[in-house]
Amino acid sequence: MELSSATLYIVPTPIGNMADITLRALTVLEQVDLICAEDTRHTGKLLSHHNITTQTMSVHDHNERARVQTLVNKLEQGQSIALVSDAGTPLISDPGYHLVNGIRDAGFKVVPLPGACAAITALSAAGVATDRFAFEGFLVAKSAGRQSQLANLKSEPRTMVFYESPRRIVDTISDMIAVFGGERHIVLARELTKTFETIHGAPAGDLLEWLRSDENNQRGEMVVMVAGYKANDETIAPEVIDALKLLSEELPLKKAAALVAKLYGGKKNALYKTGLELGL
Ligand code: SAM
Repeated sequence: MELSSATLYIVPTPIGNMADITLRALTVLEQVDLICAEDTRHTGKLLSHHNITTQTMSVHDHNERARVQTLVNKLEQGQSIALVSDAGTPLISDPGYHLVNGIRDAGFKVVPLPGACAAITALSAAGVATDRFAFEGFLVAKSAGRQSQLANLKSEPRTMVFYESPRRIVDTISDMIAVFGGERHIVLARELTKTFETIHGAPAGDLLEWLRSDENNQRGEMVVMVAGYKANDETIAPEVIDALKLLSEELPLKKAAALVAKLYGGKKNALYKTGLELGL
C-alpha cells in the first residue's frame, strides 16, 4: 500500500483485544514518518507487539494546541503522520479535535481509518434501537451536575450512549433512575473484547440491584446504553414522575401513587414501585 505524503492519518487501536487492529492500520503505522500518541509509552507496547519502530511524539489534551504548528511544518515538508489515542478511535472522547481542525484549516488532507470504538462495539450487541442514537460520552463527576445533564435528556427519543467509570457507575445508574424512572431499559457493556466481557440489559431498577449484588459487576471499562423515551410505552413519563415526587412530599407514597394514577392514567402499582426505587 502506497501512503499519501503530507497527510494526517487517524488510526484506531484495540480497546482490549490486541488482535483488533486492521491490516491497513498496521501498514499506516509502519510507513508514516511520525506517530502522534496520547501516551507514547502505552502506544509503544502496541507498536513493539507488531515490531513497528516508527518514531512517536506525545499529543494529548494539554499540549495538543501547541503541537499544531510543529505538525503543520512537518506536513509542509511532505511528511505523513498518524494520530492514535490510548484505545479505540481518536477524537471519540479522546484528544485530537484541535489537531485535526488545525491541520484541515492549514489545507492538509486528513484520512480516517475505520476500526475499534467502544460505543459502536457495544451498540452492535446490546439489542437496543440503533437506527438513531445519541452519543453522550462521559457525564460530569458530581451528582447534582449529572442529574441536570440527564434532566435535559429526559424526553430524548433516541438510544443514548454514555461512557462511564467503574467508580461512578452505581451513582450514575441511581441518578438515571431518579430522572428516567426505574422502568427505563438500560444495557451495560463492560470489558468489551476482554476476558470478563459482560453485556447485561434490564430495567434501570433491576440493573442497579444487579450491580450492587456483586462488586465484580462494577469493575472495568464500561458503556451504558439507555433506551430512548417513548410516549406510549410502559415507561412512566417524566412529568408523571415529577407529580409523584411532589405529591409524595405531602402524602404517603401509596396515596400519592393512587392520585397520580387517577390524574394521569396508568397503573398505581407501577407508580408505587417506581416511587420505592426512587426512595420517595
Ligand atoms: N476513543 C475510545 C473509543 O473509541 O471508544 C474511547 C476513549 S474514552 C477515554 C475511554 C472509555 O471508553 C472508557 O472509560 C469506557 O467507558 C469506554 N471503553 C473503552 N474500552 C472499553 C471496553 N473494552 N469495554 C467497554 N468500554 C470501553
